[in-house]
Amino acid sequence: MDSVIEAPPRAIDLGVRWRHTFAELGPSYYTELPPSPLPAPYLVGLNWRLAAQLGLPADMLESEEGVRALTGSQPIAGTRPLASVYSGHQFGVWAGQLGDGRALLLGEIDSAAGPQELQFKGSGRTPYSRMGDGRAVLRSSIREFLCSEAMHGLGIPTTRALSVTGSDAPVRRETVETAAVVVRVSPSFVRFGHFEHFASRGQDEELRRLADYVVDRHYPECRSTGRFGGNAYAALLEAVSERTAALLAQWQAVGFCHGVMNTDNMSMLGLSIDYGPFQFLDAFDPNHICNHSDETGRYAYNRQPNVAYWNLFGLGQALLPLIGDEETTLAALESYKTVFPRELEARLRAKLGLADAREGDRTLIEGILQQLAKDRVDYTIFWRRLSQHVAGGAVEPVRDLFLDRAAFDAWLLDYSTRLTGDRQAAGLAMLRANPKYVLRNHLAELAIRRARQKDFGGVAELLAVLQSPFDEHPAHEALAGFPPDWASHIEISCSS
Ligand code: AMP
Ligand code: MG
Repeated sequence: MDSVIEAPPRAIDLGVRWRHTFAELGPSYYTELPPSPLPAPYLVGLNWRLAAQLGLPADMLESEEGVRALTGSQPIAGTRPLASVYSGHQFGVWAGQLGDGRALLLGEIDSAAGPQELQFKGSGRTPYSRMGDGRAVLRSSIREFLCSEAMHGLGIPTTRALSVTGSDAPVRRETVETAAVVVRVSPSFVRFGHFEHFASRGQDEELRRLADYVVDRHYPECRSTGRFGGNAYAALLEAVSERTAALLAQWQAVGFCHGVMNTDNMSMLGLSIDYGPFQFLDAFDPNHICNHSDETGRYAYNRQPNVAYWNLFGLGQALLPLIGDEETTLAALESYKTVFPRELEARLRAKLGLADAREGDRTLIEGILQQLAKDRVDYTIFWRRLSQHVAGGAVEPVRDLFLDRAAFDAWLLDYSTRLTGDRQAAGLAMLRANPKYVLRNHLAELAIRRARQKDFGGVAELLAVLQSPFDEHPAHEALAGFPPDWASHIEISCSS
């Protein structure tokens, strides 16, 4: 048989040392395979700041060879690409085995913030792709790239994004789109679903090894805690519950809807992960459903905190064989119910510029949220204008947001009475708690439209502004305005 022997593509050396602690867990947890190359890749966005933090040579990443490496079209020396296996509950229903259907873990490198794993998303089929093509489209990849960094800029725990690269290779969704790859960065990509996977199969040894891995690397304090009689797995469940509670408080406070809070999209580190049909609220609507595929509103904005608890319950069930008994498992989950309301109140108090907690704060908070909902006031703009008013600006810009001005005036009087002390200082603190810029759907959409025409300026502009969303950025004022009318017609679904 004649065959053309092609030289294997030369591996690119990024000059960093790779380690493979997840791979060392053994083959029960993953399948090793290389990414599937995409033709003629191009750079859509590069996160220079993150590259610097990781000690990666940004100029090399920008080169033709670097872009191929970031797309999975040329091997990276020292990496050991693998797709991990997990299961999960999707929309409240047990979905069985899922896994990295389009993601590949490359390994981990050191950074000032500790070891960081790098992962491709959209790099081709894996044994866990099921019916999927292993690809991600340009639009959803740009959204994930920008939102990761927007969340980080807001101080909300999240996986990060190093780059997004594209290729004109067609990808079929509702229409034919084009392919893209995001390089994601996180201390760990382990999800609740990883534990559900081994628990559902009765693989207690694999379950234990994974739990030990997560505890040793990310929650070493769970080994020495006196809580739960020294039961490290119960302590782990409690720690994850607390981090998840703190995360949800931040989501709610900033008006972030995740859209697909399935257990396989829940991070064991309490990070925001898997940006799909997410949305930052425009007008405040507690019942807002951001995911067009979510017909019952399971993941509506105001349901997110309960869903997170439901998901933690699933994690608790998965960890039950390690924890030992139901009573301890339930006790470990309890912390969610105290930490979430405490954290949420603290976040909202910060938004109001209240440095200490006092009786009546909850009424004040609920009072304004009800008015925002009734008058469908723009959430981000309200908080920013209120901050400016407290910092010394006029009241009209915030008052004019309301239809029922009398009700707002009454609330403002109560609030002003409560806001004793240095108003200017409170206002300045509020400007650090209430962002001017969030990644609204229409902003992402406009950047995506330009990117489809190979103009990546919109992506770069949004990245720069969203990395410091509390700053004024006067040259980018347009990104802080009200959404246009067409924004409410944008339909974002699970299709990505
Ligand atoms: P998601 O809802 O996006 O978190 O994805 C749920 C599951 O479907 C995960 O196991 C993904 O890896 C997988 N998946 C999603 N899209 C694709 C795709 N285009 N190809 C292969 N697997 C996919
Ligand atoms: Mg997912």
